[in-house]
Amino acid sequence: TVTLKDVTKVFRDGTVAVDSINLDVNDGEFMVLLGPSGCGKSTVLRMIAGLEEPTTGAVMLDGELANDLPPRDRKIAMVFQDFALYPHMTVGDNIAFPLRLAGIEPEPRGERVSDVASALGIGDVLARKPGQLSGGQRQRVAMGRAIVRRPGLFLMDEPLSNLDSGLRAELRAEISGLTRELGVTTVYVTHDQAEALTMADRVAIMRRGVLQDVGTPTQVYGRPATLYVAAFLGSPR
Ligand code: ATP
Ligand code: MG
Repeated sequence: TVTLKDVTKVFRDGTVAVDSINLDVNDGEFMVLLGPSGCGKSTVLRMIAGLEEPTTGAVMLDGELANDLPPRDRKIAMVFQDFALYPHMTVGDNIAFPLRLAGIEPEPRGERVSDVASALGIGDVLARKPGQLSGGQRQRVAMGRAIVRRPGLFLMDEPLSNLDSGLRAELRAEISGLTRELGVTTVYVTHDQAEALTMADRVAIMRRGVLQDVGTPTQVYGRPATLYVAAFLGSPR
């Protein structure tokens, strides 16, 4: 469980990026943070990851205050828009890398790599290097590498925004399918309404640092909390 209690982030130059947000993400839930550019989505995600500290308020992980817990002590994995793969390593070694760092023996390692790779549809390119893959395949490798250690919490920041729309639609279904299959709690950031409404168990909609509405796609679309949410989602009136 992730709990944000009155979380505010004010940057040194005075920018209020996040303003008193309260949000719960339940175990196994796929939560999408949705809002326009600059509304504070990445800042929220970075505070959950431990890459930024809240100015005030509490970030709790599984009921424990985590405000100053370093990222490596949180059981999280993160995928960004500009996923960086190791160009000199094969796909298989890229995915296995976190397991190797964790000191896992070659045999369970190989099996877990091939399980994750086949779930992501890249089981047949394990011996290639990233330079020999399509953009979509590279994104799948980045996801495989993030998820191979079975993190307790999976954080994704606009992971599909560099891909074309056909591929994006295909990967949406794959990502939500895979995280549900693994039962991993996920916070997924996007500015794309359709992406949010198709992937989420619940959607949290932000505007200028403030949380406007939280609910299932049906709830936020059908009964938007504010006029802003209605306009942003294009809800029928
Ligand atoms: P996008 O969709 O464009 O990625 P976002 O919703 O992720 O936007 P954030 O990156 O969280 O938005 O930024 C929220 C606000 O905080 C913006 O006004 C941004 O300019 C500001 N901001 C972000 N990082 C810093 C920083 N290190 N110092 C000062 N202001 C910052
Ligand atoms: Mg962002």
